Order: sequence, then C-alpha cells, then structure tokens
Amino acid sequence: MAVLEEPIKGVPMVKNYIGGEWVESKGEIIDVVNPVTCETIAKVGISTKEEIDAAVKAAQEAYPDWRRTPPVTRARYLFRLRELLEENFEEISRIQTQEHGKTIDESRGETRRGIENVEVACGIPTLMMGDSSEDVASGIDEYLIRQPLGVFGIIGPFNFPFMIPLWSAPYAVAAGNTVIIKPSSEVPNSQAKLAELVEEAGFPPGVWNVVNGGRTVVNGMLDHPQIEGITFVGSTPTMENVIYPRCGATGKRVIAQGGASNCLVIMPDCNVKATIPSLMTSFFGNAGQRCLAGQNLIIVGDDNKFYNSFVEQVTEAAKKIRVGNGLDESIQMGPVRDAEKKQRIMNYIEIGLKEGATLRLDGRKPKIEGDYPDTCFLGPTIFENVTPDMTIFKEEIFGPTMGIMRAKDLDEAIQMCNDNPFHNGHAIFTSNGKYARKFQYEVISGNVGINIGIVAPMAFYPFSGMKGSFMGVLHTQGKEAIRFFTESKVCIQRWF
Ligand code: NAD
Repeated sequence: MAVLEEPIKGVPMVKNYIGGEWVESKGEIIDVVNPVTCETIAKVGISTKEEIDAAVKAAQEAYPDWRRTPPVTRARYLFRLRELLEENFEEISRIQTQEHGKTIDESRGETRRGIENVEVACGIPTLMMGDSSEDVASGIDEYLIRQPLGVFGIIGPFNFPFMIPLWSAPYAVAAGNTVIIKPSSEVPNSQAKLAELVEEAGFPPGVWNVVNGGRTVVNGMLDHPQIEGITFVGSTPTMENVIYPRCGATGKRVIAQGGASNCLVIMPDCNVKATIPSLMTSFFGNAGQRCLAGQNLIIVGDDNKFYNSFVEQVTEAAKKIRVGNGLDESIQMGPVRDAEKKQRIMNYIEIGLKEGATLRLDGRKPKIEGDYPDTCFLGPTIFENVTPDMTIFKEEIFGPTMGIMRAKDLDEAIQMCNDNPFHNGHAIFTSNGKYARKFQYEVISGNVGINIGIVAPMAFYPFSGMKGSFMGVLHTQGKEAIRFFTESKVCIQRWF
C-alpha cells in the first residue's frame, strides 16, 4: 500500500506560544528526528528561564479576565476548538506518526481520545456546580463553590504527544485557569499544531501557552512560585525523584502519573480466539510504548496442553505483525521512538536471558517492510520462563516484549500482579464471572481489565494508577480533573 503524505515539510522551527505570540526560543536548538527515516523533520529550542518567566507572566495576566468569563462562555471556546480538531483530524494524526513512529491507525485513535477530553470539558457549567444545604442550623445555609486557582503547568511524555496534555488542559482552562504546556522535546510538533488551533478558536492570549524544552524547563516550572499546580505524565523515576518531592517542597498541588509493567492473566477458560488479537495490540501496539501495554503474560493452571497450544498461537500471531513505516496503512507496528530507547530494550532482552528466561520469539533483527534503516526498529519479542524475581518483570521495559509466566492458580496470579512494583493496568481474560470479580476485588491496579487488553479509561472517567505508577490523590480526566483544577470554597450564611 502507498505511504501517506507526510504533513511536516522542510525542517520547520517549532516555536513557543506565549501570550498569543509565536516566539522562537533563544535557548539551545535540538533536532526532532523521525524514527522511521532517521531524518531531522523539525528543530526545537530548549527554552530559557526568561522564556518560562514570560509564559508564567502571560498566563498570570490572562487569568483575572478568563476567570471572570462565565463557564458557559468558556465552554464555547472549547466547542470551537473541538470543531477545528475534527476538521484537522487527519493532519494531526499524521503529525503524530511522523514525529513518533506509531502507525496511522494508532495515531487516529490517539487523536480521537484527545478530542473526547475536549468534548467532556465542554460540560463545564454542569461539571463545576457546587453543593448547598439549607438550614444546617436554624436559619443558617451552607454551600460549596468551586473556584479556579491560577496558572497550571502540564508536563507531557513522548509516547502520546498529542493526547496526554489533553487529559489536563481542557479541564484546567474550562474551570477558569490558564495553562503552560511543556511537551516532550522529542515530539513537540503535535502540541504546536494544537496551539495553532487554540489560537484559531479565539482563546484570549495567555490562556493557553506552550513552552518547549526538557528537564531544565520542567525544573523552572516546578520552582516557579506563581505556578499553582502541576500535572505530570512520564516515567516513575522522574515522578518519584523530581516531580512529587519538588511539588511538595514548593507547595504545589500535583497529579503525577508514572510507568508500568502490566500483567495480563490468562485463565484456561478464556475465549482464546478473541483473546489473542487483544494480546497483540496490548503487548505490541504502539511498539509497546504505552503505560497500559501488557508486559507480563501470566498463564494460570498446570494444563501443559493448554499452555503449549496458547503460547504457540500467541507466537504465530506475533510473527505475522507487519513492521514498518506507520504512514503505510498496512503496517501494524512502527519503530520505537529512538535508537537510545531501542538499545535500552535490547539491554533488557540481554538481562532477561542472563537471568534465565528463554526466547520464544526474538525481535532484535526484525523484517522491515520497505527500505528504511533498522536504527529504531524492533520486532515482537516473546520470553518464556519468566519469574517474579527477574528484572524484566520488576522493571518497565517500554518496548514490544512479552514475558510469559506461569501461576498454579488464580490466587498465585493475583499475588504476582500485586508483588509487581507498578499498578497501572492489570487485566484478566476469563469466561467465569466469579474469577473476574475476584480479580477485580483483589488486584492492586488503578485500571482493571476484564477481557480487555488495554485498560484506557474514557475521558469521563479518571485515568487512574496506584503505587509505583501514580503519586497524588486526584487523577486527570473527567470530574476528578475538575476537582484538581479548582478549590472547594465553603460558605456559611445567616441573615438577620
Ligand atoms: P520521562 O520521565 O523521561 O519524561 C517525561 C517528561 O518529564 C518530559 O517532558 C521530560 O522532558 C521531563 N523529564 C524527563 N526527565 C526529567 C528530569 N530528570 N527532571 C525534570 N524533568 C524531566 O518519560 P518519557 O520517556 O517521556 O515517557 C515514557 C514514560 O511515561 C513511561 O514510563 C510510561 O509508562 C510513562 N507514561 C505513563 C502514563 C500514565 O498514565 N501513567 C501515560 C503515558 C506514559
């Protein structure tokens, strides 16, 4: 099939969007590289302290008027943005594929999920409603109103460059706050496109700002006294060592979503035909670079016949996955984001072998459809004989690997899930409601799948996570995001 046209042409400079102006950063300039072709497709600046300060100032200045804009009017800006996102749906999706490497279908899914968050935030007049009680004491009424707080920082990871800032930003601005988005410097183009559409939708200058860069910009945001709160999505070490402690030290409210090593439990009574395709997208979709990707497949029971037949079918399905350029619609798996990430995954494969796991399918030298360098490509890789003490179970690999493990019964399988340091999206495949309910009840996991391989909550549910996968109390998306981006003010009144 023909390769779709690339939306990013030449080598554009990705600018910051501050106070309604597009400004080129005066900081160090780095390349944005397409992992399929290894060509530089754009350049982006690592913003300076002055540029962060300018964005905070613009956001602060925009805040008083934006806060006074009635929620129903703020919602109308979001409705306009939603229409523009639909009109630009295909271009936005192709930008993600070009900068990140995921397949065009995966990008379209990402665009759709991003838009859904804008749609949910359009309900702000209802979402922001408070509570009231008459006669809490004789002649005294009490009520709660939700008020915005000011400027929020939104920090994104590389793996969902378009969607993840939309888990926060629409809710923050709908509630009357102003935002500064800091996309991953590896993939800044789709946030630039989003900001263009925000501008076209007519949002007042300073309500929505984008400042590009890496960790120095994050540090600047964390330390800035005029930023009220932070939402962060990224790896667990950054969450645990940088984001959460620094927000604590500077008194900022924070939602911090970290990494994962999700377990998918297979009961012998599962619907095998329906389960196998679900496992393919869970483990190998987005080249395994999803916080909700399966990493560990736990097959329950001592029935060797079932085990052998199941593993054989999984392996055969994985072998058929077509690896190549995601802008070719027949491709099912793109590259990983860059050569360094590929090397990291290769190192984990080595560690797995050293610690006693065996390779059922080795993806280190994949067959690539089309004439592309193999710099960032890996094929599906399947381990057997993985045990809970192994590094490839305990650490996040974030690549297209599946580690197959065995558990004698459901209790042991749940224990293995609960002993894993991450608790983001564990799942069970079964046709027995009692097993499913027991799993849901006992497993420690922010998101739980029952015959679902990628447990991605819809925009009107919180994007949950627990323990090694999350720090904070409230979550992004839906009503919890509104709670996070507002303060509950309680008023008690009596009239004489
Ligand atoms: P990362 O932690 O390297 O980077 C995330 C963001 O933090 C980026 O904007 C980056 O510039 C910044 N950053 C990185 N190191 C920093 C440091 N030392 N100090 C300050 N800022 C720093 O994560 P990533 O590689 O971009 O993203 C992949 C990770 O994100 C994976 O671990 C994945 O599981 C996780 N993730 C989690 C969720 C979730 O909802 N829980 C969703 C998507 C991705």
